[in-house]
Amino acid sequence: MSSGSVQESAPLSGAAGLEAARKEYAELRARGLSLDLTRGKPSPEQLDLAGDLLSLPGGGDVKAADGTDTRNYGGLLGLPELREIFAGPLQVPAGQLLALGNASLTLMHDNVVQALLSVVPGGERRWADEPRVRFVCPVPGYDRHFGVCERYGIDMVPVPLTGEGPDMDVVEELVASDPTIKGMWCVPKYSNPTGEVYSDETVRRLAAMRTAAPDFRLFWDNAYAVHHLTGERVEILSILDACAEAGNPDRAFVFGSTSKITTAGSGVAFVGSSPANVAWMKERLLKQTIGPDKVNQLRHVRFFRDTDGVTAHMERHRALLEPRFAAVYEVLESELGPLGIAEWTRPKGGYFVSLDVPDGCASEVVRLAKEAGIALTPAGAAFPYGKDPRDREIRLAPSFPSVEEVREAMRAVAVCVRLAAAEQEAAGTAG
Ligand code: PMP
Repeated sequence: MSSGSVQESAPLSGAAGLEAARKEYAELRARGLSLDLTRGKPSPEQLDLAGDLLSLPGGGDVKAADGTDTRNYGGLLGLPELREIFAGPLQVPAGQLLALGNASLTLMHDNVVQALLSVVPGGERRWADEPRVRFVCPVPGYDRHFGVCERYGIDMVPVPLTGEGPDMDVVEELVASDPTIKGMWCVPKYSNPTGEVYSDETVRRLAAMRTAAPDFRLFWDNAYAVHHLTGERVEILSILDACAEAGNPDRAFVFGSTSKITTAGSGVAFVGSSPANVAWMKERLLKQTIGPDKVNQLRHVRFFRDTDGVTAHMERHRALLEPRFAAVYEVLESELGPLGIAEWTRPKGGYFVSLDVPDGCASEVVRLAKEAGIALTPAGAAFPYGKDPRDREIRLAPSFPSVEEVREAMRAVAVCVRLAAAEQEAAGTAG
């Protein structure tokens, strides 16, 4: 198979096009590849960047800044010096930012469950006592957010993203008219999977919109706050400030973690909010734990030293990630660009590229890729209930494989897209 300009030998239209697309796909299958673009995981090289963590804080270095012995119980809200380091990046005052366990997803899950089982500030009853609870879900979005809703019977209302965040005309109308809408998932910066960044206007409107539910909450998952992929370090408005200014100080819970900064699964997760919400979360924490893993938190403090340390560290990640994303664009442009059958995002940060293929083709592309040894995220994964109504979006995760593997996998994806599109065209002509 030639790699640079396959589309020249596979013109899309007509029986000859279908024939050529089938032939290059047969060649692809014969190669017996085994590649994986499903995992939004840091590569081993990225994890090595935080290799020193494994020997920190080091023998005898056990005391936090205030003299607390980190090996012992206590310190429910996390080490103050670590909360200071992440206060700026997460746009939450350190006093209102808690440094807790190893995963922000756990904190999001627990906040949803806590809202189901105990009345949130400003609420009249527990969400579990409502006849129905619904969440606004910008799409495409993060499948694990949707999984939390599905697990607890929270209905999901998809709202399209516009390039500047969710379609706010739709969101405002929904939340103003429907008191069963209690929450909304937001990944405001370098969103998973489209790389969406919420504009200042979007943030202000989310903070100020009138909600029929008095206990409506934004679940503001700023998972990619410092995960820049270009020299432009995109900043967004602070949601907590915007909510306070709009007179809705308790509207947002902010989440983040070091999962894709230091070590995935053994980093530190954060949650921040208004003083009233923090007090509410603290009531749960008091029953849930005697304190977080402060040794791990101290390790992170020693590793970063300060917020500039985080920034410098993220530049090292960028150096590893940028060429992988460049490989994705390069192949998509050369192999699919001239055909006009696909569109893709060019995120300024985060972990994913979102590829839109012709309507009705995403499942077929994923199936063809699988048969050729290329694992792709299941079509529809970025939509509530796993259903993409247009069956066109495919989430590409280029961080984990090597640059050459990314290139190879993307060439294979392009072959599959061309075949799926040619098959669809042929079926349309036949019908
Ligand atoms: N939120 C988003 C938007 C993510 O993409 C991810 C990781 N894929 C997470 C949360 C998970 O974060 P954590 O490891 O802190 O649970």
